[in-house]
Amino acid sequence: MEFRESAEDAAFRAEVRGWLAANKPPPEPAEGPDKARYARDWQRRLWEGGWAGIAWPQEYGGRGLGVVQQLIFNEEYALARAPDILNLKVGLSLVGPTLIHCGEEWQRKRFLPKLLSGEEMWCQGFSEPNAGSDLASLRTRAELDGDELVVNGQKTWTSFARWADWCILVVRTSSEGPRHKGLTFLLLDMKSPGITIRPLVEMTGHAWFNEVFFDNVRVPLANVVGGIGNGWNVVVTTLGHERSGTTPYVRLAAEQRRLARLARRTLLNGAPAARDPLIRQKIAQHAIDVQTLKCTTYRNITALRRTGTPGPESSVLKLFWSELDQRLKETAIDILGARGLLRRDDPLAAEDGFWFHELLWSRAATIYAGTSEVQRNIVAQRVLGLPR
Ligand SMILES: Cc1cc2nc3c(=O)[nH]c(=O)nc-3n(C[C@H](O)[C@H](O)[C@H](O)COP(=O)(O)OP(=O)(O)OC[C@H]3O[C@@H](n4cnc5c(N)ncnc54)[C@H](O)[C@@H]3O)c2cc1C
Repeated sequence: MEFRESAEDAAFRAEVRGWLAANKPPPEPAEGPDKARYARDWQRRLWEGGWAGIAWPQEYGGRGLGVVQQLIFNEEYALARAPDILNLKVGLSLVGPTLIHCGEEWQRKRFLPKLLSGEEMWCQGFSEPNAGSDLASLRTRAELDGDELVVNGQKTWTSFARWADWCILVVRTSSEGPRHKGLTFLLLDMKSPGITIRPLVEMTGHAWFNEVFFDNVRVPLANVVGGIGNGWNVVVTTLGHERSGTTPYVRLAAEQRRLARLARRTLLNGAPAARDPLIRQKIAQHAIDVQTLKCTTYRNITALRRTGTPGPESSVLKLFWSELDQRLKETAIDILGARGLLRRDDPLAAEDGFWFHELLWSRAATIYAGTSEVQRNIVAQRVLGLPR
């Protein structure tokens, strides 16, 4: 990894910055259908501007540049405080790379451009009530019937399911042999008959995720990715991408700067919190951790450029950023004191309840995309080669 920016990359950075300054939309609405519409419209504008799928091949609607340009875009995006991209967490980060690596040509051509333009939103149907960390124990079944698979069972924690047009779904097609050999990876139309979706409210008060029930849902065989019984290999590719990427680093770098500004303007025991020795030490440690995260992210990008897929090392990245995320939010509450623990709708809430909401949401970071314990197991066994 070359740390100094080339002249072309600096020009690219200036182009991104200029476009975002001219095109950033007004703040997004609160939850509800308006939020989803706003998110789709914004993604469409990004795509029309050439800013969706920067590192994806041009034949699938991408821009055909590299991961370094994607990183530059992400950095500028965070600096501009542009709105969240709703299709980012599942569609752009998971489905796109999975189809590029494991999909059939018709699947790439059919799905990727509409994913980039925001025309079609995606969700991820992996976890079940008794299959999270131990995903291979999943029990949602699919039986072959002519040229279709018929799906019955239940998924849970399915983020964005209520807004999604399509789902990457992992099902059991065989109970013979090792558990992970009997899995199949499907592209499921969320408008298919037989699907019931129930929202689940999180401790933040929002309901991003859902339970999804399948009652004789028919999926064409053509929508299988990677072949019947070969779903586990596809899942591993999806999870590798879920745990890597540059988004956490740029988000946490922006939040660390915001936290330092908060410490400068908030009074603690009659003086700015930034002068308190304990708070200073924590903020300095966060700044160091953000730099560590940056270097680890760059190492991950280097591996991705060499091999095309993120290896098990992406678990190091996921483990580190998710735990740093929580430490940052805890420091914010240390700075704000008791009023920092009031919700957004409370008139006495410090900073409009922003940091309290973030503190609650950050608890999920060490669970989704694989828990910290699971990441430690992967690092021990597959990176360090320790015995099971
Ligand atoms: C905000 C959020 C969004 C999510 N979105 C989605 C989504 O869109 N789609 C989807 O499919 N899933 C989603 N998930 C689910 C997520 O992938 C699972 O919650 C996660 O994999 C953990 O599974 P589990 O909840 O069943 O916990 P369990 O696997 O039951 O784990 C319980 C505890 O046991 C520990 N544990 C389990 N196995 C081991 C082991 N072998 N060694 C050591 N400790 C172990 C875990 O670390 C954890 O502390 C989401 C979760 C959250 C919090």
